[in-house]
Amino acid sequence: MTLDLLAIAAHPDDVELTCGGTLLKMAEKGYNTGILDLTAGEMGTRGTPETRAKEAAAAAKILKVRWRGNLGIPDSDVQPNRENKLKLAAKIRELRPRTVILPYWEARHPDHYHASTLGYEGCFLAGLKQLPLDGEPFRPFKILYATSFEGMPPTFIVDVTKQCDTRRRAILAYASQFRPAKSEKKQKVFLAIDELDSRMDLLARHYGQMIGVKYGEPFLQKEVMAVEDVVALSVRSI
Ligand SMILES: [Zn+2]
Repeated sequence: MTLDLLAIAAHPDDVELTCGGTLLKMAEKGYNTGILDLTAGEMGTRGTPETRAKEAAAAAKILKVRWRGNLGIPDSDVQPNRENKLKLAAKIRELRPRTVILPYWEARHPDHYHASTLGYEGCFLAGLKQLPLDGEPFRPFKILYATSFEGMPPTFIVDVTKQCDTRRRAILAYASQFRPAKSEKKQKVFLAIDELDSRMDLLARHYGQMIGVKYGEPFLQKEVMAVEDVVALSVRSI
């Protein structure tokens, strides 16, 4: 199977939190979408890797994702080293996505910014003919960076108003992360994920407002955007 759109991120649930609405919207448009988790999230405070794998599969189904895989890199050790780059390049050759979504290249969690570098370099290497790797050389056409949590001005925002309820269901499919047992809550360990659901709502509303809709997801690309018709441009100026 070849994909139109592949989102790559460090941990299961990262994609749902940063660009789940966009993935769903593209699936609804008829595109083949996919998610590649680099790790199983085994260093997370809550939930076993087995539980998280089940949750990831359920979330993928909710987002109508055609393919979801895991690269098996150790959690908290996502390094853009040669071994990982080749592993990723092999997957890119197999899935041949036209567009790839990566995490933004600056982040608090080292796995997130390493995932960004690893993602970019893996996509680049996949196109090198001389690489000691199976499969036809292939390079994605477009790389986008999901910036939801990072706060810099995005290049564009996708209207996900119609997808927002379903995206929320996909996020909450990670019950071990976002709906922990009451006994766990009593441990009083501060975890930002307890607040994440409401924060996600706030962020999506903030970005939605920037383009005049209710909910949005922001992206950044390194290239400028070409416009064919300046009369038909969206988003009101005054
Ligand atoms: Zn993460």
